[in-house]
Amino acid sequence: MARERVNWRDRFPEDVTCVRCLQKRSIEDLDRLLWCEECQAAAKRRATMRGWLAGASLAVVLALYIWLVIQPDLSLIPTGWAATLLVAFYLGSRVARELFLGWERLANRRAVEARPPSADVDSPPSST
Ligand SMILES: [Zn+2]
Repeated sequence: MARERVNWRDRFPEDVTCVRCLQKRSIEDLDRLLWCEECQAAAKRRATMRGWLAGASLAVVLALYIWLVIQPDLSLIPTGWAATLLVAFYLGSRVARELFLGWERLANRRAVEARPPSADVDSPPSST
């Protein structure tokens, strides 16, 4: 006797409300937190932007630390210091992005992406 593969989606009806934008979606389009794909993409975009800002901040702080505290002789290996800053910027951005995204998933705030039905007609959508 073949066993049916148990799917978490089976516990839900066919159409479910996304907890972020409050739009009715097919359960197939939602993830386990009941976020639709648009809301996941929006959260990733926001986390990426914040991640780049955090990475840039880290690189600036590191540059100031190198410049003021370490005071290296930049005539020797300037590309090494530049590479250090670039790596700090890139890795800092990636780590910060994951932390921001993880925090947003963990907090799982409701209806963050929801807009009143008339908002699209009356005013341009505010970028957050
Ligand atoms: Zn949504």
